[in-house]
Amino acid sequence: MKNLIPFCLFLLMFSCKTSVKTESKPITITSAEVKDVVTYLASDERLGRNTGTQGIDESATYIENQLKSYGVKPYYDTYRDHFKIGETNAFNVVGFIEGTDKTLKNEVIILGAHYDHIGKAKIVEGDSIANGANDNAAGTSAVLAMAKYFAAKKTNKRSIMVALFSAEEMGLLGSKHLAERLKSENLNLYTMVNFEMIGVPFKDRDYEAFVSGYDLSNMAAKLNEYVGQNLIGYSEVSKKYSLFKRSDNYPFYEQFKLPCHTISSCDLTNFDFYHHVDDEIDKLDFEFMASLINKMIPAIEKMSATETKEIIMYEE
Ligand SMILES: [Zn+2]
Repeated sequence: MKNLIPFCLFLLMFSCKTSVKTESKPITITSAEVKDVVTYLASDERLGRNTGTQGIDESATYIENQLKSYGVKPYYDTYRDHFKIGETNAFNVVGFIEGTDKTLKNEVIILGAHYDHIGKAKIVEGDSIANGANDNAAGTSAVLAMAKYFAAKKTNKRSIMVALFSAEEMGLLGSKHLAERLKSENLNLYTMVNFEMIGVPFKDRDYEAFVSGYDLSNMAAKLNEYVGQNLIGYSEVSKKYSLFKRSDNYPFYEQFKLPCHTISSCDLTNFDFYHHVDDEIDKLDFEFMASLINKMIPAIEKMSATETKEIIMYEE
């Protein structure tokens, strides 16, 4: 693991053009509520959510309070899954929405995103706070929105675990800890879907987001089938830079050898502010985000309801 650069590090090597708006029609989740979450997490007061700081502690408390208000239960005794990085205390935030089917509820779908960021970055015009709006307050807001939906509607037949990871930016440490813990506890995992940098739309593509490790399983094909459109596609960049191994899906794949993937709408072409102090809320397209989340919800709903485990790894 130590030689792997986290997903969000690879973009440092590139520069990109800015995004354009796309039309969207939110069905259940509004752009305003997505923006509220991102605004809290990516504000200067959170100081860039570096692991081990007050800013990430406040962020974790905020996420816990959101989950509680939605009626999502803690997976463990509390929402926090604690781990240590040397002397530093760190914690993932983990909630659980039990499935409605008496048999299928024993199988678990994990929806994940890292909520930490890097703290500070190179000073630009007096600003040193790396707000991490796209990376990854955006993914966190998506997971919270889906948690809110499923806790309210209770339409998931399989159980859904929501996992917000710390210390991704330090090398996927939070997800590695939780994946190992859940494996040792014999979690009956079906799939893991991770969300990373979904704050701006692609241009010039016939899909809205890509899945890392596209050719390892039928995840993309099944999500598109479930949602009835070409929502999730293939990214050359993801393949070239092995993004499958560079975000929080990968420790889950390593432990469980099941379909565990990251969904993202950012590779090289559409975001200029990667690990930059200007990765701030004014750069994000909240209409696009709400639209993508509202399309993912029925896909996850269907994923939770199929009689058999349809999403499978391809044979090597
Ligand atoms: Zn990231």
